[in-house]
Amino acid sequence: QDRPNISVGPAPRRTTRQVVLSWYDHTVRVGGGAPVVVQSMTNTDTADPIATAIQVKDLAMAGSEVVRITVNTPEAAAQVPAIREQLDRMGVYVPLVGDFHYNGHKLLTQFPECAQALSKYRINPGNMGAGNKRDDNFAQMIEVACRYNKPVRIGVNWGSLDSSLMAKMMDENSRRAQPWAAQAVMREALVVSAISNAQRAETLGLPGDAIVLSCKVSHVQDLIAVYQDLASRCDYPLHLGLTEAGMGSKGIVASTAALAVLLQQGIGDTIRISLTPEPGGDRTREVVVAQEILQTMGLRAFTPMVVACPGCGRTSSTVFQELADSIQTYLRQQMPVWKTRYPGVETMNVAVMGCVVNGPGESQHADIGISLPGTGEVPSAPVYIDGRRTVTLKGDSIAGEFQAIVERYVEE
Ligand code: SF4
Repeated sequence: QDRPNISVGPAPRRTTRQVVLSWYDHTVRVGGGAPVVVQSMTNTDTADPIATAIQVKDLAMAGSEVVRITVNTPEAAAQVPAIREQLDRMGVYVPLVGDFHYNGHKLLTQFPECAQALSKYRINPGNMGAGNKRDDNFAQMIEVACRYNKPVRIGVNWGSLDSSLMAKMMDENSRRAQPWAAQAVMREALVVSAISNAQRAETLGLPGDAIVLSCKVSHVQDLIAVYQDLASRCDYPLHLGLTEAGMGSKGIVASTAALAVLLQQGIGDTIRISLTPEPGGDRTREVVVAQEILQTMGLRAFTPMVVACPGCGRTSSTVFQELADSIQTYLRQQMPVWKTRYPGVETMNVAVMGCVVNGPGESQHADIGISLPGTGEVPSAPVYIDGRRTVTLKGDSIAGEFQAIVERYVEE
């Protein structure tokens, strides 16, 4: 029993409606108690169906449960059915989401096969024109969603907020006895835009359980404040993401900081980590980061986790770092087969430690662990399985032997 006043673990998940994305009989549920869904987005030209289908497949194989593709031109819309067909032929039934801005109403009505091949439409109410035209364009997209029975994400973005709404709210704010800060008005405008457009979509005939909302901003504290507010004012499932998170460690840290706070509070039904890829970098990185956030928080499990120490002056070589890296890579590579063959393997913990100081302890806490010899220690590496010391490995082939032990452990 936990000590009084000490709470461990995330708050109960926020109660939401459930939105179902489907392709054939493959379904992904968002909200309504379903596990937090990992999604990602391609950066290929959608008008190139082969390159796009290959990247969607890579993202799906890495663990992306939903993949969004931009649909920005008639050429792109025309190729969406071909992308879907390529994926179906490869046995990749991941739901595709079409990302629309400016001309979505035209593309969805002019390319019905595109509208049908997608499993969800992302609509940005800030990028649909102004006034009556904007309302008409929005209504056209909702009408297509109703006709093809597709859910939508009403995705409001800090960088493309509805300018007429913003102007109206700034005007109202100027008449307050104590005007809010401009930043607070923007946060309110994001939430109002998302909710009012969702309500309008329902008025136009879209079921409430076919709507996901997002309000993306690029600053951590604003994102947390906006989503806390949004979560308290509606019961639509929420898509979380720090937009334009940035490159490398900054993007990962900022996304993790923001999303971890919200997820801990039970807020968030699907996540995307928007990392700027390094030139030539691997697009699947954002999927791995999303999975790692969920897994390290104990919300989901995707792949066995490797606990490794950072190393210090007590280690004279990089053997344990190389071993930790190779074991983590090996475990990830095995998962497509292992997850069907050995249910539950994704919750396994492996420890790879650099010396006797914390090595035996961490290894005993893991399902399977190894404590490599530090500087001045006896050149041997005890292996611990289910908390008990078993064999001791020596010599130059420790990495291979430990990998074989891990493999045997999983099989048994
Ligand atoms: Fe350093 Fe040993 Fe701790 Fe690793 S386990 S950080 S090598 S003291």
